Amino acid sequence: PVESGAGNDQPKRLTVLSGPSGVGKSTVVKELRRRRPEVWLSVSVTTRPPRPGETDGVEYYFVDDAEFDRLVAENELLEWAEFAGNRYGTPREPVLKRLAAGQPVLLEIDLNGARQVRANMPDAFLVFLAPPSWEELVRRLTGRGTESPEVIQRRLETARIELAAEKEFDVTLVNTSVHEVCDELLALIAAPSTQ
Ligand code: 5GP
Repeated sequence: PVESGAGNDQPKRLTVLSGPSGVGKSTVVKELRRRRPEVWLSVSVTTRPPRPGETDGVEYYFVDDAEFDRLVAENELLEWAEFAGNRYGTPREPVLKRLAAGQPVLLEIDLNGARQVRANMPDAFLVFLAPPSWEELVRRLTGRGTESPEVIQRRLETARIELAAEKEFDVTLVNTSVHEVCDELLALIAAPSTQ
């Protein structure tokens, strides 16, 4: 389901996909990348170590703290935020280059990053990915099976706060099925000429 305001017939050039932790943003983005490689997805820098199967320059650019400090100091990031003890940021230059060339650009970032984009780039289109229900989010956050009850409790508290951010966004997509959300997201980001 797509809920949106007026002016929805405009192509959306810079689209931000955000939402609570555990809602399934990266799964949606992976599916979108598979189906529509022409949509340019920003590759973030992060100080988090790579997970098994992740490749430098594909999922992220993996950098150390000193390099991240340098990027911040030299204003090379469009936005950045700390998440679960690591820093994540969007390199500015590649995004601006694609936008100047008229290409649709997608950022998949956390809520604090989305707020910075909102503040710095008023034309950006902000998409909130919501869980089908609170119970489903609880199931996803607890179902990873590796965390202690204390950690799970903290994540649930964070999730409750994060869900309240929905009202800051232009549109909400409910993550009922990855395929459907992907369709809806594509309809929002792609200019008519590229569909
Ligand atoms: P993960 O470590 O699971 O790959 O990502 C953790 C969180 O960081 C996710 O919510 C993801 O959306 C967010 N994230 C990834 N890249 C960026 C970025 O460039 N900026 C911001 N603000 N958040 C990011």
